Amino acid sequence: MQGVHHVVCHDCPFEGLYESARTATGARKNHEHKRNHRVSYLEIDRPEPLPGV
Ligand SMILES: [Zn+2]
Repeated sequence: MQGVHHVVCHDCPFEGLYESARTATGARKNHEHKRNHRVSYLEIDRPEPLPGV
């Protein structure tokens, strides 16, 4: 089972869910470079349907 990669910024509302670690890392680095914000990256092992989908 593939995990979900959660990227969230501590300095603005930027947040994203990615199925690929490479995409998640790219989005995180891109945001850090562009905005100079602190961005957290988490891997969620058990993907579950998003509420309301
Ligand atoms: Zn930010």
